[in-house]
Amino acid sequence: MDFVIQAAYFVAAILFIVGLKQMSSPVTARRGILWAGVGMLAAVVVTFFAPDLHGVANYLLMFLAIGLGGGLAWWWGKRVAMTDMPQMIALYNGMGGGAAAAIAAVELIRYEPMTLPVQIIAVIGALIGTMAFSGSLVAFAKLQGLLKGAIRYPQQQMVNLAVFGATLLFGAIVALSGNDYAGVLLFLFFVLALAFGVLTTLPIGGADMPVVISLYNALTGLAVGFEGFVLGNPAMMIAGIVVGAAGSLLTQLMAKAMNRSIRNVLFSNFGAAGTGMAEESVDGSLKPIEGSDAGIMMAYADKLIVVPGYGMAVAQAQHKLWELCELLMERGVAVKFAIHPVAGRMPGHMNVLLAEAGVPYDLIYDLDEINNEFANADVALVIGANDVVNPVARSNPDSPIYGMPILNADKAKHVVVIKRGQGTGFSGVENALFYADNTRMLYGDGQKAIGELIQAVKTL
Ligand code: NDP
Repeated sequence: MDFVIQAAYFVAAILFIVGLKQMSSPVTARRGILWAGVGMLAAVVVTFFAPDLHGVANYLLMFLAIGLGGGLAWWWGKRVAMTDMPQMIALYNGMGGGAAAAIAAVELIRYEPMTLPVQIIAVIGALIGTMAFSGSLVAFAKLQGLLKGAIRYPQQQMVNLAVFGATLLFGAIVALSGNDYAGVLLFLFFVLALAFGVLTTLPIGGADMPVVISLYNALTGLAVGFEGFVLGNPAMMIAGIVVGAAGSLLTQLMAKAMNRSIRNVLFSNFGAAGTGMAEESVDGSLKPIEGSDAGIMMAYADKLIVVPGYGMAVAQAQHKLWELCELLMERGVAVKFAIHPVAGRMPGHMNVLLAEAGVPYDLIYDLDEINNEFANADVALVIGANDVVNPVARSNPDSPIYGMPILNADKAKHVVVIKRGQGTGFSGVENALFYADNTRMLYGDGQKAIGELIQAVKTL
């Protein structure tokens, strides 16, 4: 029986890897999620037959937990709006870290003898998982708008350092004192680790959030991997390591996209939105344009580059946008889509929406591929994007987003920006592009504004 169980865990782990591989392309991503889901189901089912559960397992509690957790996730997953997906993912990610930490807590208070290395690994996994849990909850609150921007106070880094030092101290005592330590020390260790996750995430805001979210994703994977080692569970080990490795790569990519180091993200004052440091004074004026005029301008363009952002997701304007682009292409306009790595509110957000609308992948370009092309584009159509096209990131060293690579929409001959009003982007920084001489503002909800453009093109 043990062989069958180990083999099933191994198959589950393979399914996770196959699933993850398929998630790397929008064409196969849906299938990848299904494969990984089947792997997870297999791992859960086979756990019921694990011999070390017999005699100690409370099956009623297990079914209750699976029913409650599965039911809630099913219900919420069905009704969540596309625009709320990022915060849901942040929350689920945090739950993964929390679950790993809970496993560590159970193993550490079970008074079953553990070797010193295993005890140390359990504590490290607990620290990482707990931090990912509470940090992800803060990230959730920020994405949900419950907490605004970066929250700072004097001597913040010193306080964080002190809390981290105390967490390590208690963790070391728990790890090194065998099973003789008092439960209260373990409790204090978890409280401090929770506090450290919260305190580290509070000052991070503005455009740094994507890096932090993917960092916690990686940490959750690592925590699960560590606790898989403690339990001797290969499925957990492999799944954790795969998520940890993929998350670490994603964090690197996100940090590179923001031109930042992880250390800078966690320990500097970048992304000062909400602290007053984000105030910008921008020259020029906002110049509105009617949908009919903007539509005609686009219809007579040779080359148009579309820059979608978070507002397109809010307006769910991707289908209408593609309808407009098809009309323009029929008229001979060369249309391309430019995607910034942190556009929207989660990695790949814009790619998913454009794929859903049926935009061919060969029209979609990354920042590096397309940035030089703006200079010879007749029109840049910016729909619901703000931070990712803000030229102050290039020009103003005092700006909280200074140094972040942006899409060079401002270099196009004409820029049409669709947004509802004067709302700032996620970082809270005023956008110089909107005031530029070559920019016209088409005010309105994304879907409605694109509808006006379609009408204008159709009347020609
Ligand atoms: P932004 O958040 O900078 O700007 C979105 C703009 O969309 C706003 O200025 C808003 O202006 C407009 N908007 C909102 N609703 C609508 C609507 N219905 N119709 C038309 N426009 C609308 O978006 P970007 O994509 O440019 O930048 C993403 C930001 O989010 C970056 O700062 C990034 O760091 C951050 N972030 C990204 C994550 C990721 O993984 N991708 C994760 C977390 C944060 P108005 O209100 O006037 O309409």
